[in-house]
Amino acid sequence: MTDPVSQHLGGFISIILFTLVFYGVFAYVREIVCTTICPYGRLQSVLMDDQSITIAYDHRRGEPRGHRKKGVEQSIGDCVDCNLCVQVCPTGIDIRNGLQMECVSCTACIDACDAVMEKLDRPKQLIGFYSVSEIEGGVQKKGNTRAIAYTLVLAALIAVFGWLVFSRSQVDGTLLRAKGSSYQIHEDGTVSNLYSLELINKTSGNIPFALEALGEKMTVRLVNPTTELKSGATAQLTFFLISPQQSVKAYKTNVKISVVSDGKVVETLKTTFVAPPGGG
Ligand code: SF4
Ligand code: SF4
Repeated sequence: MTDPVSQHLGGFISIILFTLVFYGVFAYVREIVCTTICPYGRLQSVLMDDQSITIAYDHRRGEPRGHRKKGVEQSIGDCVDCNLCVQVCPTGIDIRNGLQMECVSCTACIDACDAVMEKLDRPKQLIGFYSVSEIEGGVQKKGNTRAIAYTLVLAALIAVFGWLVFSRSQVDGTLLRAKGSSYQIHEDGTVSNLYSLELINKTSGNIPFALEALGEKMTVRLVNPTTELKSGATAQLTFFLISPQQSVKAYKTNVKISVVSDGKVVETLKTTFVAPPGGG
């Protein structure tokens, strides 16, 4: 950074704002970003149901919770109410209260509880990856209407995306009439218009090409004849569209210019051709 700040005031103010926002996020807002601002958690909750596998507390095994007393026979569950799972939770929730939107699935509570279970010589996974119906002892279904509907929507989106990728044209172009020009009448009975054309080669290989006027008795004459578009490059072209004046039927004619490569039309562009009709 060698220029004075006054020359980049917009960028400087943006950096200051970003710095303040990120300072605020890390110093004050913290987990509220995960629980309230970030849309990811909210989106997840829409997609979930009883069959969704998530981080959950097996309350059938853990309850009733309580501290263990040495040498005393107690009819309590495996949860010793050590509160470690709450202490390690970055969003400060108690997973034993059931699935909550604030859970960011970091698995810290699983590790903390497994360590406790290990010390108590009890099976791990009091907190683990379970579905609600699995914990309740229900039947684990393989699919449901919502899952099938989402799968169909996803398949449709993938199909549209695939179609967009594979039908993407190799060449893109912008065709404009040359500024300030209308038409030129020539002694040989022809009339011409001047155009500028920008062609972009979106592929990684060179593309040989030619310009053709579609459907009219018109010919294209490039000012600087070029026959190849370099890979990933943009070419600025200027060309004349020439027509016998006798075949001009209206002052303004819609024409299509096609970019042809290896006998295939790779791009078609529309423009207008202006000339006095039929020699008038
Ligand atoms: S997975 Fe992470 S965010 Fe969720 S309850 Fe456990 S510790 Fe908290
Ligand atoms: S870490 Fe395990 S044993 Fe301790 S309170 Fe949480 S669920 Fe209960």
